[in-house]
Amino acid sequence: MDTNQHRFAMFVDLHDVRALVVGGGPVALRKTRRLIDAGANVNVVAPLQHEGFNQLLSDGAITLQAREFIESDIQGMAVVVAATGSLTINRNIARLAQTVGAHVNVANDPAAGNFIMPSLIDRTPLLIAISSGGASPVLSRLLTARIEAFIPQRFADLATLAGQYRDQIKTQIAGWRERRRFWEHQLGGRVGEIVLQGRQSEARSALEQAIEQHQSNQVQGEVYLVGAGPGDPDLLSFRALRLMQHVDVVFYDRLVSDAVLSLVKPDATRIYVGKQRSDHAMPQTTINQQLVEQAKLGKRVLRLKGGDPFIFGRGGEEIEQLAENGIAFQVVPGITAAAGCASYAGIPLTHRDYSQACLFVTGHLKDGSVDLNWASLTQPQQTVVIYMGLVGLPHIVGKLIEHKMPGSTPIALVSQGTTQQQNVVIGTLDNIVDRVEASSVKAPTLTIIGDVVNLRKKLNWFEPGDSDINLVD
Ligand code: SAH
Repeated sequence: MDTNQHRFAMFVDLHDVRALVVGGGPVALRKTRRLIDAGANVNVVAPLQHEGFNQLLSDGAITLQAREFIESDIQGMAVVVAATGSLTINRNIARLAQTVGAHVNVANDPAAGNFIMPSLIDRTPLLIAISSGGASPVLSRLLTARIEAFIPQRFADLATLAGQYRDQIKTQIAGWRERRRFWEHQLGGRVGEIVLQGRQSEARSALEQAIEQHQSNQVQGEVYLVGAGPGDPDLLSFRALRLMQHVDVVFYDRLVSDAVLSLVKPDATRIYVGKQRSDHAMPQTTINQQLVEQAKLGKRVLRLKGGDPFIFGRGGEEIEQLAENGIAFQVVPGITAAAGCASYAGIPLTHRDYSQACLFVTGHLKDGSVDLNWASLTQPQQTVVIYMGLVGLPHIVGKLIEHKMPGSTPIALVSQGTTQQQNVVIGTLDNIVDRVEASSVKAPTLTIIGDVVNLRKKLNWFEPGDSDINLVD
């Protein structure tokens, strides 16, 4: 068997099929378990066995011959696994097996047999098999781990539910194209989400309701309010990514990075709603209304917001209107700028020695000033994080000094945090305004104030690719 050869992938029913495993080590054990899982009748031949075999034996899951392999062991076997640890013996077994037409797998020597056991992602009835054709089992396993992480365990429940309704829906929704659309909509949308949240019985009623609505042509959409994180697409949550790939229309604002936006389903309609200072491409009330209208048209609507939707994100306002209109929605948290920027700048927001609390405040100017509880911000042993504070920085710094915060207090300004353009300016209350003016920081920026800023000297780890010179640091 040539490892570069194209293979035929086949999911075979091994129920009650006779299988022989020759070998008693851990590899033989692993393969034996796989055969048992598939329902095969497994006979194991090995003079010595790994202790795991004892359990299988006492469970009645296998029969065992505690001796060396003999030719007649092959008799009547449809599947043979040679895992003795001896290349010569394994190859001999493989040859014998092939002469009687059995399928044979040879451990660590794929070319000697005629089938390999792929790595599995098991969400029975859903089964994903990965094979590198024997070229690199480690690579197959790495890939398996990645896919494992992307496919929640509850996909098994989703597949079961779909299986249970398949025939019914065949009779209730005419035309395979129409049925496919229906299934895509439900499995990738509301019903799928309910199942993945573990609410099985609710999922049944949602599916039944969807069938009714489909028959009477009143499909109702829903809205996903999703936190897109601070910029680096690797910081999206699995759920955010999943929903991004199952929507019809997306409303996004300036803070959502291009790298994140490119992960939204390609044929979804993209609507930019602005949100730059003084550039509100779409007023908030219009956004709120649009979300409702699109959902009423039966669309799956993604409202993608920078960072976390509930932290200075007006997420609350947007879903209030949805709730009032009885539209289904869910909220997916994102990594907020404070968490993202702090990590990527090497500044822990709390620290046992320097900071026992952390405040998130907005530095957005209204009529040229910021209305904050200054006395609470100037307390010792805490960290203050200011969102939207670039324009107001001189004013904010002035106020803090006025309220007796020492001029030597460390402060960091993180610009375009977590992205390849991240830039960090470090200073003290006394000199930060000059330093920021001398640098070319670009919005968005986040300000972090407190002794923890000093830890960056030791803890900085992130080296952005194309930042301008990392100015004063
Ligand atoms: N909901 C968002 C915050 C929206 S307010 C969140 O949870 O992060 C917008 C402010 O967030 C910006 O003015 C800036 O202060 C901050 N911000 C968002 N992304 C940022 C980034 N990548 N780097 C620095 N600051 C960021």
